[in-house]
Amino acid sequence: MLIMEEPKLPEEKALRSLNFIEEIIEEDIRNGVNEGRVHTRFPPEPNGYLHIGHAKSICLNFGLAKKYNGMTNLRFDDTNPVKEDVEYVDSIMEDVKWLGFDWEDRLYYASDYFEQLYEYAVTLIRKERAYVCDMSAEEISETRGTPTRPGKESPYRNRTVGENIDLFARMRNGEFPDGTRVLRARIDMASPNMHMRDPVLYRILHAHHHRTGDQWCIYPMYDFAHGQSDSIERITHSICTLEFEVHRPLYDWFIREIGIYPPRQIEFARLNMTYTVMSKRKLLELVQQGFVSGWDDPRMPTICGLRRRGFTPESIRNFAETIGVAKRDNIIDVSLLEFCIREDLNRRANRLMAILDPVKVVIDNYPEELTEELESVNNPEDESRGKRKMPFSKTLFIERDDFMEDPPNKFFRLAPGREVRLKAAYIIRCESVVKEPETGRITEIHCTYDPMTRSGMPDSNRKVKGTLHWVSAKHAVGVEVRLYDRLFVKENPDDIEEGKTYKDYLNPDSLKVITAMVEPAVKNAQVSEKYQFERTGYFSVDKDSTAQNLIFNRVVPLKDSWVKTEKVK
Ligand code: ATP
Ligand code: MG
Repeated sequence: MLIMEEPKLPEEKALRSLNFIEEIIEEDIRNGVNEGRVHTRFPPEPNGYLHIGHAKSICLNFGLAKKYNGMTNLRFDDTNPVKEDVEYVDSIMEDVKWLGFDWEDRLYYASDYFEQLYEYAVTLIRKERAYVCDMSAEEISETRGTPTRPGKESPYRNRTVGENIDLFARMRNGEFPDGTRVLRARIDMASPNMHMRDPVLYRILHAHHHRTGDQWCIYPMYDFAHGQSDSIERITHSICTLEFEVHRPLYDWFIREIGIYPPRQIEFARLNMTYTVMSKRKLLELVQQGFVSGWDDPRMPTICGLRRRGFTPESIRNFAETIGVAKRDNIIDVSLLEFCIREDLNRRANRLMAILDPVKVVIDNYPEELTEELESVNNPEDESRGKRKMPFSKTLFIERDDFMEDPPNKFFRLAPGREVRLKAAYIIRCESVVKEPETGRITEIHCTYDPMTRSGMPDSNRKVKGTLHWVSAKHAVGVEVRLYDRLFVKENPDDIEEGKTYKDYLNPDSLKVITAMVEPAVKNAQVSEKYQFERTGYFSVDKDSTAQNLIFNRVVPLKDSWVKTEKVK
């Protein structure tokens, strides 16, 4: 006799309580459902690039399998040849891997099941649970009724099994043009659930499929493919977003009528985020109509956009873990995602001094030709990162807004007669300013320095209120910096006022390109490396950078300083 070991729950690593999906899974494990097996899948349709919402679903599906010693499949739900493409398939695989997940040898395609799905359809026909209908799409839609009014039965509903088998085979053989016939389930035209009113299972579409080529001219509807694909793969827990809750009775009906393995569907609320649109249709439109430079534009909520912007997989996984799963729709503040990347980069990004809006500082009492090499810490959070040398000389750059000619009391930066410390260097004091006569714009700030205040000198610990970052003018390297702001000015761009579209809420100032002056250590920067520019923010080297022409994307400012106003065009 085979004695089955009682399935064990893995020890709780995190202290947080179980989310509702984990509760369901643990209940199933306790009851020995599926012999305690946990098998999930991530089922994207390859009709666009993945976004942060998909990342949540990926982290959830792979995370649950990991937690319960299970497995996760990657399956492409590629039932719509018209909108799908290998470009999307490739990008999806790249993004899932980049996020840190591995489907091992379990890569599947719904299109691999087309023959099996066809057989399932024939099974339904034989049971008088499906029929070929000759009505047009418009007629079908017109006769569906409304949620409160029953639909009208199709005049073709009572065709004989033989006739249906013959017609369905001929549909497959390409005897009929697109749109002339469909296969429908024979359920209930009066059901209060509209999805149960004889839904379409197959349509005729003479279209080339990115995997099956011209082998098929009928294609299953998503609803007829999704649940059965889960069943074929013996998925134990089919996790999907809330809008599929109303489809669940239909999925269960298919599984029951065909008589195959029943996965358990669990719905959770999809991720919505402030200042962001998440629908693939809208994202595609932004790309196609040139509102952004591509799917990987760093302002896009796509995984490749976030990656290019400088987000790390760890920060996205941490974000997904932090927001958790909910049963009701909600909208997450995008600043939480930004918090997660700040927290991660604070630990891993080396510091550099960079001046985004330079104004010249001349140290009058500093020797003309002298250059000193001053040491600065690479990352105060991680001593093992060591130190680097920064050249200091008579002429420096500081940020223009770190100086005020006529400052209020609370201004602890540079002003006439006031002292500040230059980080890792000296205390300086402002003596005078030079202005452009016509505009009054300051062109030079003249200062004196106190030679006793640098590290190793007697007054190195002398305290002053403000500390500024700086770079030596003649050693500075000019780099292109792309400053991103939110892509939309409206908190919820999907909440559209009359006569407008979500595109009316695009932020015209979401990208500003400037030249920053950076300390010479920047020359070692490699593509996709991340830095903290001291006091300004986190920046990542763009993929279009070259050694001669460095380009930095601002991942996120140090503090939350984005525009918050709802200016609407
Ligand atoms: P869209 O509605 O924009 O076309 P989709 O939901 O159809 O997107 P799919 O490729 O079908 O995109 O999604 C793959 C998986 O990712 C599905 O299981 C879906 O539930 C999940 N998913 C998609 N968007 C989100 C989101 N915003 N939050 C959480 N999960 C999501
Ligand atoms: Mg979908």
